[in-house]
Amino acid sequence: MTQRRHRHPTPQAELRCKCGQAIKRFWSFCTSCGRPLVWRDDPPITNAECYYCGWVVSDLHSYCGWCGADIQEEGVSSPEPLKAPRGFRFDGHCDWDCGGGVQYPMAYCPWCGGEQEWEDTAYEGSCPHCDRGVDDAMDICQWCGFDATGSDLIDRALTRVRRLLLVSRIRDWGYRVLLRPGVSGVDPRSRNIIEIDRSYVMGVRRRDEIPWSLLVGLVCHELGHSFLYHHWPFTHTEQFTRVFGEANKAYRVSDDTWVDFQRKKVSSGNAQHVTAYAATHPLEDFAEVFRFYVTRRGRMKELLAELGRQRKDVIVYEKFLLLHRFVRSLRGWR
Ligand SMILES: [Zn+2]
Ligand SMILES: [Zn+2]
Ligand SMILES: [Zn+2]
Ligand SMILES: [Zn+2]
Ligand SMILES: [Zn+2]
Repeated sequence: MTQRRHRHPTPQAELRCKCGQAIKRFWSFCTSCGRPLVWRDDPPITNAECYYCGWVVSDLHSYCGWCGADIQEEGVSSPEPLKAPRGFRFDGHCDWDCGGGVQYPMAYCPWCGGEQEWEDTAYEGSCPHCDRGVDDAMDICQWCGFDATGSDLIDRALTRVRRLLLVSRIRDWGYRVLLRPGVSGVDPRSRNIIEIDRSYVMGVRRRDEIPWSLLVGLVCHELGHSFLYHHWPFTHTEQFTRVFGEANKAYRVSDDTWVDFQRKKVSSGNAQHVTAYAATHPLEDFAEVFRFYVTRRGRMKELLAELGRQRKDVIVYEKFLLLHRFVRSLRGWR
């Protein structure tokens, strides 16, 4: 009786860029340093590399699946489209129905040269520059080599926000701003990730049409959520619940509630809250107080005077004072 041999797949050595970043085979760029990557026939399997881009190909291919170059050779290339020659995997049929197979993430069909589209389902979000899949932690898009966060598209707003936080003496708690499709917000499960709806910026023809001051306000509001999730035990304190209420209160704020983040002034009318939107939930209340605190550079004198002019109740002063004291306590301020 022969003993069945246990088969263990050889563990693949983790691939790393020269900079140390973990990378995946067939990414075009390193997601950390942005270096262009070249995937050669290494270890040698096909003994063929594209003359133009240097990436691994098969002699049977008519086109380079990576750069699209015509690499056809009479008597060598397969006259018929194949599914997957040696060294390659069949991940799907060519988008152009030539009958050949393509491997993820080939940009071109190696048989007919037709451009291929892939859905990158294994990633958390999408790159604002090329729309392909990227993860939240990536700085550079592995497909197009541009800023995967989209921060470059809202740099004017982010520079302003960083400056405001600095002068408000709020230390960077490691937040990341990502430009993504859909609504703006912060998921408590990834409290340092601030997603900003990319439609504010994308589809806008000229840079001067971008609503910069609205974006600054919006980012500051969302930062307020992130900041509070980051310091969640603060919400359990007696002072917090007394002025803001229960942070765990059921959330019934609809996504499309109109919030005018461009508003420069504290609104009058709602005596207990800094803005009408702040009245929707304790978390929104805090985020709005945070937004005003930061956009006023933490200058309490000016803020309190402004609250006075708008005839706010004492409770609104207390919200700002509580945040002010909390910010100072974090810095070990004397
Ligand atoms: Zn790198
Ligand atoms: Zn090539
Ligand atoms: Zn094809
Ligand atoms: Zn991209
Ligand atoms: Zn909010």
